[in-house]
Amino acid sequence: MRTSAGDGTTAIVIGAGIAGLATARILSDHFDRVTILERDRLPQEAVPRRGVPQGRHSHLLLAAGQRLLDGWFPGLADDLAASGAVPVHASGLVWHQIGDYRVRSDLGFLAMSMSRALLEVTVRRRLRQQAPNVRVVDRTAVDSLIVVDGRVMGVLVDGVAHRADFVVACSGRNTQVFDQLAAQGFPAPEISAVRIDMASASQVVRRKPDDLDGDLAVVIGGPANGHRVGTMVPVEGDRWIITLGSFFGEVPPDDPDEYQAFARSLPAPALADVLARAEPLTPVLTHRMRTNLRRHVERLDRNPPGFIALGDAVCSLNPIYAQGMTSAALQAQALGQALDRHGPTSPELARAFYRRAGKAVDGPWRIAAGAYFADPRATGSKSTGAGLLNRYLDMVSRACHTSLPVARQALLVQNLLARPESLLTPAMILRVLLAVRRGG
Ligand SMILES: Cc1cc2nc3c(=O)[nH]c(=O)nc-3n(C[C@H](O)[C@H](O)[C@H](O)COP(=O)(O)OP(=O)(O)OC[C@H]3O[C@@H](n4cnc5c(N)ncnc54)[C@H](O)[C@@H]3O)c2cc1C
Repeated sequence: MRTSAGDGTTAIVIGAGIAGLATARILSDHFDRVTILERDRLPQEAVPRRGVPQGRHSHLLLAAGQRLLDGWFPGLADDLAASGAVPVHASGLVWHQIGDYRVRSDLGFLAMSMSRALLEVTVRRRLRQQAPNVRVVDRTAVDSLIVVDGRVMGVLVDGVAHRADFVVACSGRNTQVFDQLAAQGFPAPEISAVRIDMASASQVVRRKPDDLDGDLAVVIGGPANGHRVGTMVPVEGDRWIITLGSFFGEVPPDDPDEYQAFARSLPAPALADVLARAEPLTPVLTHRMRTNLRRHVERLDRNPPGFIALGDAVCSLNPIYAQGMTSAALQAQALGQALDRHGPTSPELARAFYRRAGKAVDGPWRIAAGAYFADPRATGSKSTGAGLLNRYLDMVSRACHTSLPVARQALLVQNLLARPESLLTPAMILRVLLAVRRGG
């Protein structure tokens, strides 16, 4: 099929978040022209924007996401470093869980740490340089999909039709595309939702070289550790983003003194000590997320040709594990594999992609959604064996206090470089049990 302009195959991506940018890069190898339509005005500088309010909170890119982005955009890490992003090594990660600090792992470089805004603006710049057949059009909100004879043929913007051979919805967690398709007679994906009533409160503060004795990131807390958590990650401009979180209805305060007191209530002092001495650069901003939300696209038995959804539109995860952007990148990788295998016009493409995407988000989903069933207040779609798994993961966390091999493997899993099953091999279980017995 050709576009109305008759000049090659075309694809439209709805949304210029991380999912949209990665998807456009993948599509640029398979379509003659790719257009990203983004509702927001996209800034030239690394400043937050309205369409991604979560971007004001800490946004750590996991190692798996870093590797994928580096592969699609060679030189990205150098660009980020030149703009002040901070390379985080496993040895500089301060992680406190279940009563003690984890033994430092020797995995080396994990990922760059920067604001979400810097990552987006730098990836957009690289995309322009490396994929000249991609155009980003901002201030353009897509109203609906155009569906003709059961096939998606493009999108409608302010009553104007934009035709395309392939449309990818990267429009985030609150996307309406599946409702629109349901209105056209297509089955809607089943939804799993795990209610956690999470609230995050973030503040940017000045970072001094001697903060944390030179260590580079802090994670305090986790599901088995009570409902309060805290992270502190370095970003460009010699700043920290501190994000305090709480689950099951409690909202961390935005009053500066109460914010400090909340940080002090965490089970380890590393973050509160820095906050107490630091110069605040922003007010405290809050964000709420009621559920982990998964749309089971992999179970759909009928999909309109010419369309898929990807990113948070498919799976939106509790942010404490920092998996969202990497999950989007893994899905984009799955799209590339499906396109290589089936080609852009195959009626099998959507099904093949969704099957792969389902596998890609399975691990992150089990980590982010399953773990909170450790607390009886979590409600919703509980996967089989979640209780047993959580008890075991609790032991893994304890083993990380003393066992380097366990801490190493746990970090690989948490960075989505290894599957959660790798913590369940007989050798690993033995290590975990021995470490726990030793009192880890
Ligand atoms: C508090 C918080 C902290 C987080 N921390 C991390 C972290 O540390 N690490 C991590 O990896 N992830 C983190 N996440 C998750 C991460 O933000 C998401 O997983 C990620 O942004 C998903 O990317 P996306 O492109 O799918 O969606 P989004 O980033 O939501 O982007 C969707 C885009 O689509 C646009 N759009 C929507 N509708 C339309 C339309 N109709 N027409 C045109 N454009 C449209 C929006 O303007 C937006 O630009 C966090 C989330 C929260 C809430």
